[in-house]
Amino acid sequence: MTLETERQSFRGVVCLHCKAPVPVPAIVRDFPSGPLQAAGAPSDSSAVFNLRCPVCHKEKPYRTREIVNFEGTPGPMAPFAPPAAARTFPLGGMTRTAKA
Ligand SMILES: [Zn+2]
Repeated sequence: MTLETERQSFRGVVCLHCKAPVPVPAIVRDFPSGPLQAAGAPSDSSAVFNLRCPVCHKEKPYRTREIVNFEGTPGPMAPFAPPAAARTFPLGGMTRTAKA
């Protein structure tokens, strides 16, 4: 392996919520935009995909035409960790002062 320090860049969209750069997966990045060439369809046929921001965790719809090129690295991508939504609610212990 050669250690070449070439300029890092990645394809992504700007988060609609927090404006953070969100890298798009390869399946979206390589979405074929070719069929319109063969069919002669209008050029507004951009695919819409949902993407979850790794910063604010908001899932928003984006269009493939909104994909831009960011300089730098996407940063540490958090693995798909399940949300720790295991909160314990104190049950019982409700005290009522019922006056007759
Ligand atoms: Zn965000």
